[in-house]
Amino acid sequence: MLLASAILAVLATLSLRRWEASAQRHVHEQARDMATMCVEKVETALVKTEDEGLVGLRRAVLDPEFTAGRPHSIQAWLHATPFFESAYIVNRGGGVLYPPRWSPEEGATLAALRAEIPPGFWDRESRRHVSLGGGDVALIAALPGGSLGPLLAVLRLSEQELRRGVLEKALAGLEGQSVLAVLDASDRPVYAARPLDRAERVLTVPFGDALPTWRLALYEPEGLSPRSAVRRQAGLFAAVFVLLLGVIGVGLAASYRLVRRESEMARLKSDFVANVSHDLKTPLALIRMYAETLEMNRVPSEANRREYYGVITRESERLSRLIDNVLDFSRIESGAQRYTLVRRHVEPVIHEVVDAFRHPFAQAGFKLELSVEPDLPEIPLDAEALAQALANLVDNAMKYSGESRRVEIRAGRAGDEVRIEVADDGIGIPAPEHTRIFEKFYRIGSSDTQGRRGSGVGLTLVKHIVEAHGGRVSVQSRPGEGSRFTLHLPLTMNG
Ligand code: ADP
Repeated sequence: MLLASAILAVLATLSLRRWEASAQRHVHEQARDMATMCVEKVETALVKTEDEGLVGLRRAVLDPEFTAGRPHSIQAWLHATPFFESAYIVNRGGGVLYPPRWSPEEGATLAALRAEIPPGFWDRESRRHVSLGGGDVALIAALPGGSLGPLLAVLRLSEQELRRGVLEKALAGLEGQSVLAVLDASDRPVYAARPLDRAERVLTVPFGDALPTWRLALYEPEGLSPRSAVRRQAGLFAAVFVLLLGVIGVGLAASYRLVRRESEMARLKSDFVANVSHDLKTPLALIRMYAETLEMNRVPSEANRREYYGVITRESERLSRLIDNVLDFSRIESGAQRYTLVRRHVEPVIHEVVDAFRHPFAQAGFKLELSVEPDLPEIPLDAEALAQALANLVDNAMKYSGESRRVEIRAGRAGDEVRIEVADDGIGIPAPEHTRIFEKFYRIGSSDTQGRRGSGVGLTLVKHIVEAHGGRVSVQSRPGEGSRFTLHLPLTMNG
């Protein structure tokens, strides 16, 4: 399972990477298509605006005033056509017909431009765009000059008009989330639909001949760029996948725990069978031995005979207790165990248990310290079940007493409950085991807990019985310092 999850994780990471790359490529292609379309729109708008301007210029150069060497018509045209910031008109021989005065640098620029132009350009009313120094763009157009022969107009475009008349009109309303901008040769935004701060440039597309050295750029606002969108998606995928792996991991751990619990339970059950059989065998063997001795009339005195009868009675009582425990436990397991609670005093129940243990105590040299507070109130109880619970506690106190031979039984009232305590000075119980000892079949250490036999269901019964009384059982104990088990029994069932 672990190997399968690891392989799955590697495959998923690889395919996520591939998907991320192809998604980015796709988004990029879409952005490029959009930018190319925008470039075409700008070019069309630019040509249209220039065409409109050139109609007037053609008329102005044919004006007789201009032919006669006076520049008014061109000046008037320039004034009426703010799209062109300035104009130069040159004839084929290199003469500058407009403006009337020009600087030596202007002259040099014009000469250089003229030299670049192929001869056929003059006759075909051709046009082209060139970039002048400082990022400016100019339109060069060949015009028929009538008697002046073919003329060349060098028209510097006004950046402001270009922005207002062409870029804004062509690009308005085209963008969605992305921001369109036009950059000049030095990457300065000449036009931007929205502020570009904190936006990420996705790509740029050159305008080509229409606006040489200028480029159209597509920006994405921060966090919305295709890369971050794809990254976010990939992140989400990865998170879901990790979650999935986590769920698989938790599932594996849970099944592992379950399997471990089951096999532990199977082991405990088989121990239980062995322990119960052994527990039953000991009293049976004693009973049989004493009964056979009596039967063969081998007992010398009446006193001895009475003692033998006593042993047989006590051992059969112990046998019934053991069998009761096992039967009750199986009834609890099947949910068939019922208790009948009647309001009674606890004292007679305690005395009944103490009486049952009087002999075993005496025989094993135990000292019993019994103290029952006078005037304890009656509480709802099932006398037989409570006696069984107490007997189990007392039996354990004897079994796990070690060298010390003192058992203490106390009963008293504390608030709205009656408490019955059974304490010993025996081997004690380590703190981590304090809850586990109440689990079914559980015995501390190996099946032969500290060399004492037992079935591991005694405390499970005790817990079940007090809980049926609306109470609980608690334990105070430390290894080597003895144990104190307390039954907390409420005065009323609902309080
Ligand atoms: P068992 O038949 O083994 O006594 P119980 O359910 O009565 O089963 O007790 C569970 C375990 O709790 C015992 O195996 C023992 O290890 C521990 N235990 C119970 N009572 C005492 C006690 N008075 N002192 C020390 N250990 C105890």
